[in-house]
Amino acid sequence: MDKKRIRNDLILLASILLAALAAWGVLKLAQRPGKYVVVEIDGKTSAVYPLDTDLRLDIKTEGGHVNTLVISEGRAYVESADCPDKLCVKQRAISRTGETVICLPHKLVIRIAGEGGVDTVS
Ligand SMILES: [Zn+2]
Repeated sequence: MDKKRIRNDLILLASILLAALAAWGVLKLAQRPGKYVVVEIDGKTSAVYPLDTDLRLDIKTEGGHVNTLVISEGRAYVESADCPDKLCVKQRAISRTGETVICLPHKLVIRIAGEGGVDTVS
C-alpha cells in the first residue's frame, strides 16, 4: 500500500467536495427567495406584484390575448392562456429570483425579483 498516494487522493477528494460546496453556495446566494412578481410585456415592465399576496388576474397582452396569472403561497404561475402553444401554462411555478415564465406568442415574461426591488433591464 502506498500511503502517500492514498493521502493525495484524500486531499483531492476533499478539494473537490469543497469546490462543489462553494459552487452550491454561490448558486444559493444568486437564487434567493423572490419578493416580487414582475410582469413584462414586449420587454417593458407593465406591472409588479408582491409575491406574498395571493392573486389571480388576467394579463391582457397584444392583440387582446389573455394570460391568467396566479400568485399563490409564494409562487407564481400561469393558470391558463389563449396562446397556441400553451408553453407558459406548462411551465412550473416560480418562486426564486431570476426564475421566469415566458409566453413567446404573447411576448410576455413573468419574472421573480428579489429584495433589492425591481431591476429594470432594458
Ligand atoms: Zn403562452
